[in-house]
Amino acid sequence: MSDKLHVKKHIKYLERHLALLPSKYQEHEPNKLAIICYALVGQACLGVDVPKKYEESKSWLETHYREFNLNGDLVSGFVSCPTMDLTAVPTINLPNTLFALYNMICLDNYEFLFEGIDRDSICRFVSKCQIPGRGTFVSCLDSMDNSIRSPTDSSDLRYCYIAVAILNLMGCQTTVQMRKYIDVDNLLEFIKSHCCMTGGFGQYGEAHAGYTSCALSILDIMGGDCWQILSPDFVSRTIEWLVMRQVSNQGCMKLMVNNENYDLADNGGFQGRENKFADTCYVFWCLNSLEILNRFTKLGTTYHIDALNYLLENTQNDVIGGFAKNDEDDPDPYHTCLGIAAISLINGNFNGPMFLPTTLLYKYRTHYVQ
Ligand SMILES: [Zn+2]
Repeated sequence: MSDKLHVKKHIKYLERHLALLPSKYQEHEPNKLAIICYALVGQACLGVDVPKKYEESKSWLETHYREFNLNGDLVSGFVSCPTMDLTAVPTINLPNTLFALYNMICLDNYEFLFEGIDRDSICRFVSKCQIPGRGTFVSCLDSMDNSIRSPTDSSDLRYCYIAVAILNLMGCQTTVQMRKYIDVDNLLEFIKSHCCMTGGFGQYGEAHAGYTSCALSILDIMGGDCWQILSPDFVSRTIEWLVMRQVSNQGCMKLMVNNENYDLADNGGFQGRENKFADTCYVFWCLNSLEILNRFTKLGTTYHIDALNYLLENTQNDVIGGFAKNDEDDPDPYHTCLGIAAISLINGNFNGPMFLPTTLLYKYRTHYVQ
């Protein structure tokens, strides 16, 4: 870790979000498991012994697990709030389920992960969230008797990623194992339909670093033949597109000081789309994508130094800790976690596609094999 990283301040910042969520986050009750995840993953990256420190929170987290009988099929997952329980409606959803699993892994709660939950019914829940014919996923099920799926619910590449990450954590290590629950070919078609002319993945033909990271992470997790859906030419264009997302004060950008989409302080940061300002979270999404594509080409890591400087000099908060989106906003748990994760990725200590520190993921998987 760099000496410029305010480790103690970041730990204190993240701790505060677990001890008592600041009142401004009260409206984020549905995202509570996500905020906890950002705090735990962030602290784990900073070297905190998370299982020891939060030992007593294990049982509280377990109360978020629910099983439902859906027309004779048992499905299970996690709810955001254990007190808001509607017995007739499956209130579990895919994002909460993934965040809860991350939290359990950060806490080393293997007893619950291997005996307390029914892995098969969690995978069945993922299966029921896949939209037949389209390959993509919704985040939750509408009612007990109809296994489908709110028509207004989002169903973009983020949900495909969440579905595949859950299946992987529940033991589906290969596409053969995943095919037991989901239509892999349909999912791959959906991913392919999001390839953009410029390189990268996005909706409506516009590449976006977040969707690009989701698509590439899915292919990385599923591995093997799945990469064949991308042509070598598309992979090269994607690498080029990603490298171009790093904002630089050098070269032609020097001449663009009057460009309203360009800020000198963004030097070294990454933007999520063309003509946008740099943002801490896109450092992670772009670096993760580049790390994954490193297997196809010798990219080197020259972009790391500027990215690191951008995070440490511009978006890290020197007073209260945490990372902000940019050099003007207040820090928040999401950008703090993503900033720390990006630095861990640069240091080789983070598994980007599975969004966990490598040591934690290794420990969990070793336990799984036993
Ligand atoms: Zn952001």
